[in-house]
Amino acid sequence: MKVIFLDIDGVLNDEEFNETTEYVAPYPSLEWWAEGLDPKKVHLLNGLIRSTDSVVVVSSTWRLGKTVEEMQAILEIGGFDGDIVGMTPIMSDAPRGIEISTWLDHHPEVSKFVILDDDPDMAHLRHKLVQTSIDEGLTVEKVSEAQSHLCNGWENVCEAIVAEAAKGLDTHFTELQMEGCNITSDEYDLWEEAHVASYRAVNMASFGAMEIFMQAVSEWAEMCDLFDPDWEDHDWWYADEEE
Ligand SMILES: [Mg+2]
Repeated sequence: MKVIFLDIDGVLNDEEFNETTEYVAPYPSLEWWAEGLDPKKVHLLNGLIRSTDSVVVVSSTWRLGKTVEEMQAILEIGGFDGDIVGMTPIMSDAPRGIEISTWLDHHPEVSKFVILDDDPDMAHLRHKLVQTSIDEGLTVEKVSEAQSHLCNGWENVCEAIVAEAAKGLDTHFTELQMEGCNITSDEYDLWEEAHVASYRAVNMASFGAMEIFMQAVSEWAEMCDLFDPDWEDHDWWYADEEE
């Protein structure tokens, strides 16, 4: 699980927005809170979440007196389309970085994280901070800085290849289903494609990516009754190397 620790003031709004926004909804409704969110900043956050497959943990003081569900609702009213999975604990007088690391201590499933905040009080987690400013809030530049914390380029390439291969297989699944799994003339082409894609995944040295891909191939093969599903023992895998 990849997590974005989210501050709100100075991230999802900036000085200019705060000076010009007019609050219409009654205080302190969820709608009133949502009026304090700049839709343009929320849109940038949505893009960051989508491109990195991340979830959000709220570290902002906006969390005080609210539930996760209420925070989710407030952000959704403001245009947010991600998932809030938690809020950091409130530890009076502790730097925000300590609240964040306390939350992390209870969530070993977190593989990568980044902190979006305009305040630098991150203690030993300072190196995970992408610091915004109240002058500008979240920007395109800050989004790409955050992306680099949540993904490395290598991983992106592998994921893209697996997605590409999976897409190809999906297409074939549909075609095969239509034909009642009677593989005839296209059999060889399909196999070639799977073979080439798997080699590309291996060349990317990503065993994780390879496993996902192989599972997709096995399911496809099993479904079409084409090949032995026990791929690891299959000769084809080493065929090219032995030539
Ligand atoms: Mg702030």
